[in-house]
Amino acid sequence: MFSEDNLLPISALQHLLYCDRQCALIHVERLWAENRFTAEGGILHRRAHSGKSDTRPAGRSARGLPVRSLTLGLFGVADVVRYEKGADAPIVPVEYKRGRPKKNDCDRVQLCAQALCLEEMHGRDLPFGEIFYGKTKRRVRVEFTPDLRRTTIDATARLHDLVRSGRTPPADPGPKCDRCSLRELCLPRLGGRVARKAYSFDREIDALLASPSFPGETSS
Ligand code: SF4
Repeated sequence: MFSEDNLLPISALQHLLYCDRQCALIHVERLWAENRFTAEGGILHRRAHSGKSDTRPAGRSARGLPVRSLTLGLFGVADVVRYEKGADAPIVPVEYKRGRPKKNDCDRVQLCAQALCLEEMHGRDLPFGEIFYGKTKRRVRVEFTPDLRRTTIDATARLHDLVRSGRTPPADPGPKCDRCSLRELCLPRLGGRVARKAYSFDREIDALLASPSFPGETSS
């Protein structure tokens, strides 16, 4: 069981599944940079959260709903949660994404993590959720299968291990780097000099301080 003080954001799971190093740069070293993709995603989420919650005959939709799980050690904000009417009617989290469905599991894992939080908060099972993709303008139904739940729980454990370790793994350059907002901070293709070594911001600061020509100083 986690305490309120050591919960991690659900969004970090996406960073982890995209790239371990990106996740550590953001959640261990507290670095951040925007690019077109992150800015568009931010606008879409602000819009999803800004509408009012509404009640209809079929049920109620809550927007920008805070969720958390002390079992998993996660917190976040669900874009929309649909509470359908009826004793056994499902609770359905709906996530909004700017792009199109991805080959990897990162969007499904993020949605499943929200569902696991909601299950803990409401004390009941959630069978499925939905992801709306801005590029295709379609909702995709995501079943919370035992496999997806296991993948989500394993990724969460790995996330906590990574953040607890305080270490940033080496770069693993690939096509993903072209879309990565942290590319300029990560320098993934530094010919192996920095990028392939385990990189630590603390270590780089130590090296700078130890350098005889520390930037901004003139050597005598
Ligand atoms: S530039 Fe590449 S290796 Fe570096 S954090 Fe981004 S995705 Fe990971």
